[in-house]
Amino acid sequence: MANKIVVIGGGAAGMSAASAARAADSKANIKVITADEDVAYSPCMIPWVLSGKYTWKSMIMHTPDWYAANRRIEVITKTTVDQIVNGKEEKYVLCKKKKYKFDNLVIATGGVHFVPPVEGRDLRGVFTLKSIRDGKNFQAYLKKVKARRIVVVGAGVLGLEVADGLNVAGYDVTVIEMMKQIVPRLADQDMAALMQARIEAKKIKVVVGAPLERVNGKEFVDSVTAGGKRYACDAVVFATGIRANLEVPKMLDLDFGQLGAVTVSPTMQPYSRGRLVPNVFLAGDVVQVQSAVYSGPTMSQLGSSAVKEGKVAGANAAGMRREFGPTVSPWVTRIAGFEMAAAGMSQGLASWYGTEVVAGRCDGLTRARYYDGALPMAVKVLADRTSHRIVGAQIVAGEGTTGRIDWLAEVIRQSVTAEEFLVCAENAYCPPTSMVVDPIICAVEDLAKKLQ
Ligand SMILES: Cc1cc2nc3c(=O)[nH]c(=O)nc-3n(C[C@H](O)[C@H](O)[C@H](O)COP(=O)(O)OP(=O)(O)OC[C@H]3O[C@@H](n4cnc5c(N)ncnc54)[C@H](O)[C@@H]3O)c2cc1C
Repeated sequence: MANKIVVIGGGAAGMSAASAARAADSKANIKVITADEDVAYSPCMIPWVLSGKYTWKSMIMHTPDWYAANRRIEVITKTTVDQIVNGKEEKYVLCKKKKYKFDNLVIATGGVHFVPPVEGRDLRGVFTLKSIRDGKNFQAYLKKVKARRIVVVGAGVLGLEVADGLNVAGYDVTVIEMMKQIVPRLADQDMAALMQARIEAKKIKVVVGAPLERVNGKEFVDSVTAGGKRYACDAVVFATGIRANLEVPKMLDLDFGQLGAVTVSPTMQPYSRGRLVPNVFLAGDVVQVQSAVYSGPTMSQLGSSAVKEGKVAGANAAGMRREFGPTVSPWVTRIAGFEMAAAGMSQGLASWYGTEVVAGRCDGLTRARYYDGALPMAVKVLADRTSHRIVGAQIVAGEGTTGRIDWLAEVIRQSVTAEEFLVCAENAYCPPTSMVVDPIICAVEDLAKKLQ
């Protein structure tokens, strides 16, 4: 009998799981059930679509018809799950009184926006952006009220990307952040300040150290109050964090971890009251996984992690035995024409985990000094003071950060010390692409000196 696999969620993790299941088992009967009307798109593109340079359609990789024709995967859209039965006799997902039987189940229901419980958050003109539908509704509202001024609450990567997209589209954008710096969860103050200067140079207003007090207006939003000041606006976007969407996992009484997400084994299987649940797998923003940097869990909340986890979950649902290893979660963004990337711990996260770190920094260039178009590149590398192991890295540069942060993520994963790195590290060089001594090596040289 063909293995019946049901995947709940048609995002990065869900569609990767369905495709991996198909690759592992050509005979399996695979169904994807998803609440959204579109599948296989990256919410990561939302800020760029808002800039006006791309269409909503352009961010969809494949349609349900494509999956049916090319992968023999049935995709059922606009359908939410009402109940799951995972008994010995019967296993099924119930949606609108229709039963979808399964032998193996993958849950990839992603995350939900966290909006702080402030007065006025339900006014018209207040948005969160997670799906294409959210984006279209937001754009329609901006057009309807002839919006000019927009406040983005939250200066994390997501909020800043949205602010940049709206700025490019011609809106007057103010970003409000309660902490004293932008990207407070992931970056150090000195690196964040470099990025903030770039953002402000593009005429995006950034207000830090200003906790949001309320959203003002009668029926429609007309301003926000933050840090004791009023900021007039025609619309507000909340980008104040994503939490795991636990509605479906709760139906199976799964165990949740200290980060408020589903705890999974390396095979992406959940636990219920401490016992591994057979035939069920999870992936994406709904789970917490083991960090490769400290001895605790982490939530990657990245599209790249969701795809990788989804592949493991889907292959295992199809009878393979794959594992998802501890994660360093490298990330990168491009805002206001400048890049920021990081991996592992920031100084803030290190102190949270009680790790004393030493920092090395280099302010170099993205190309040889004598070649046209060289842009600034600042690299910061952190090492554990006791073990000298490299545990974190951040880069702010005009270009070329993705490959470098992936390189440093591997260094962190392999527990390399600053001294070992300097003995072994080599960099490719050509004037139009790099400096002869890469700023990464120069930053670790500075780090090693400080560790002496
Ligand atoms: C604006 C924005 C920008 C981002 N930028 C980046 C970036 O540059 N780089 C990066 O790596 N990551 C980025 N991310 C994060 C990345 O998009 C997410 O980590 C990734 O999409 C998570 O994938 P997922 O499959 O777990 O969840 P999702 O893509 O959210 O998919 C969840 C799916 O579950 C379905 N679902 C939910 N509840 C139910 C239910 N009850 N029944 C049925 N179906 C249900 C939904 O319809 C959806 O299809 C960004 C996110 C946002 C919002």
